[in-house]
Amino acid sequence: MFDVLIVGAGMVGASLACALGDKNCTANSTLKVGVIEGNGNFLRGEFTADGRASAIAYGSSQIWQNIGVWGGMQRRGVTPMHKIQVSEGDLPYQVQLRREDTNHEALGYIVENAVTLASLWEFAKECQNLELICPAKVLDIDYDRDRDVMRVKISSEIGEQYLETKLLVGADGGRSQIRSMANIEIDERLYEQTCIVTTIKSENPHQNFAYERFQPSGPFAVLPLGGDRACVVWTATKEETPHLLALDESTFLQELTQRFGKPLMQMLGNITIESKTRANYVPRWMHSQTYIKQRLVLIGDAAHTTHPIAGQGMNLGIRDVNALAKVLKAAHQNNQDLGSDKVLRAYQGKRRWDNLGVIWLTDISNRMFSSQNLFLKAIRRLGLLILQISLFKRILMYFMMGMHQVPE
Ligand SMILES: Cc1cc2nc3c(=O)[nH]c(=O)nc-3n(C[C@H](O)[C@H](O)[C@H](O)COP(=O)(O)OP(=O)(O)OC[C@H]3O[C@@H](n4cnc5c(N)ncnc54)[C@H](O)[C@@H]3O)c2cc1C
Repeated sequence: MFDVLIVGAGMVGASLACALGDKNCTANSTLKVGVIEGNGNFLRGEFTADGRASAIAYGSSQIWQNIGVWGGMQRRGVTPMHKIQVSEGDLPYQVQLRREDTNHEALGYIVENAVTLASLWEFAKECQNLELICPAKVLDIDYDRDRDVMRVKISSEIGEQYLETKLLVGADGGRSQIRSMANIEIDERLYEQTCIVTTIKSENPHQNFAYERFQPSGPFAVLPLGGDRACVVWTATKEETPHLLALDESTFLQELTQRFGKPLMQMLGNITIESKTRANYVPRWMHSQTYIKQRLVLIGDAAHTTHPIAGQGMNLGIRDVNALAKVLKAAHQNNQDLGSDKVLRAYQGKRRWDNLGVIWLTDISNRMFSSQNLFLKAIRRLGLLILQISLFKRILMYFMMGMHQVPE
């Protein structure tokens, strides 16, 4: 019988596994934790090649630091963000957030997803109290009322078997099977947009500058990476997407440089495209009506997804991990039942409003900045002007950096 069984060891599920592992915390050694992951490549140390990188808020880096995995990521390569510039189209004024306005070495970091996953899995494999079951798929879940345990039917290389756990954690992403099997309802909306992701290399150093530029078709982000590379997330309308994906490399590069605009191109010099393929994702927002059921809890994208523009999806997931690990560790220390309603409610109470707030704010920003309505145009320009005022800028930075949920 497991104390905790996690389904999905992507960046969020693997972070929870490491937080409950005993490598950095001997008090966890009496916790029996299982981790089920469908992607067998992870066990072989092969992580995604879609070239995606994520903006990691300073607060999230502190959560990983506390767990003990941040050092592994730093060793593999993380890029600190020294400045973030938010602008609209070709408007002459922008909001610039600078690390000099904080007491920290960076506003946040850009980390390639492959780096994050490799570091988390390396750490997880070194925990004695974790059992990694990979590749394996969950076929069914069933709460056994008489014995008050969760039964999970899985299929792995050794065939089908039942596992039992006091708590089942669904960390299996936005299309979570665990959420569907538990009949948890969701609220959702698909955006009429596509996020095209590509990696570029520039002639001149990017100076750890991140850009977020709002265009009528959707936002455009340039995230600095090591070796004067940058990850570009280009949000295009549904109509223009097939054309952009079909363009040959040199025409795509021309379109890209037009979107970058003159000031950015002057700073970067000539750019070339590094990635062989253009990855594309249809963004959506989704929020589960509840994160908890009997002996079951949802975290990360299984509980909520948001438009990638604000670079907050995984940051929310990491804050879920921090909150859940905290209540589970406290329950374990006090010999309480880890899957009890009281423990799970404490987690849900800590996370619901932060998640909902970020999802809604991101949705409003995307809609406001994509609209050609004159009234909304005036409001957003006023918003950008207000953000020139130091007090408002500091408030924005505080939340963007995830400082409201930094671990003690
Ligand atoms: C283009 C783009 C850019 C983004 N940029 C940012 C950013 O800059 N900053 C940020 O914070 N967020 C960003 N995000 C969001 C971020 O990528 C997600 O929030 C994050 O990956 C969610 O992680 P997760 O572990 O919850 O889910 P996933 O990454 O989806 O992982 C789920 C895992 O579960 C496994 N799995 C699924 N089903 C099963 C099953 N039945 N049995 C076993 N295993 C299973 C999968 O193999 C996978 O490993 C971006 C998203 C996109 C699309």
